[in-house]
Amino acid sequence: MPLVYGSAAVHLAAAAATIARPRIWPWTLGAVVLDHLLIATVGLCPRSNWLGSNWTRLPSTGGARGEIAITIDDGPDPEVTPRVLEVLAAFEAQASFFCIGERVTRHPDLAREIVRRGHSVENHSQRHRHSFSLLGPWRMAAEIARAQECIAQVTGETPRFFRAPAGLRNPFLEPILERLRLQLVSWTRRGFDTVNADADDVYHRLSRSLVDGDILLLHDGHAARARAGTPAAGTPVILDVLPRLLETLRRRQLQPVSLRATLP
Ligand SMILES: [Zn+2]
Repeated sequence: MPLVYGSAAVHLAAAAATIARPRIWPWTLGAVVLDHLLIATVGLCPRSNWLGSNWTRLPSTGGARGEIAITIDDGPDPEVTPRVLEVLAAFEAQASFFCIGERVTRHPDLAREIVRRGHSVENHSQRHRHSFSLLGPWRMAAEIARAQECIAQVTGETPRFFRAPAGLRNPFLEPILERLRLQLVSWTRRGFDTVNADADDVYHRLSRSLVDGDILLLHDGHAARARAGTPAAGTPVILDVLPRLLETLRRRQLQPVSLRATLP
């Protein structure tokens, strides 16, 4: 965690300098404020490694085997998830579902069905709070640990991966994940399919310059829907995009696998 160690050094140096020369306090305070701004800014960059290990691609072994990871967030959703499972089955593709703990509790059969079909359910926090990155260490740990317990209890499998709500983090996250033996995962590419109702655009964002080892992000929960007046009006975007994407992967001989299949 280079940034966190660097930040500790800035604080210590600022404190020492202020004690040695009290009159320079505006400068040392300024350095500390800048440091906090830097940490907060990096926390807003989901794909950065500066706050600890973070997969943005599969480990090299997975990539070398022509594998790709499709990750599906914010479910399970009683309307969308069963249809997503059908599409995946038709292409013999495996995926990783980053589920919200309280949704797993609400739809336990659906969570079990995901696992029964050979996919994995991973941890996307208990409540998917938009203030997640602003939580202190105790509340953040509770959000992750509760989801971990509830997913393990319902599906019989303990999650191995965590993705932060909206990908936003703070420096408390890394030690919590280490304690729970969770690997942080973000993505190589996403289509913004919770807000982007244009399925063509989502598909192009995901499939553009696709190579093995990529981690792609889609949503079965909070899915945007095709606009009224278009041929697919009301259809959740993922249901339009996923078959095309899987067709493209098949043509390119890229095998969609679950994240845990790539663990050593
Ligand atoms: Zn999410």
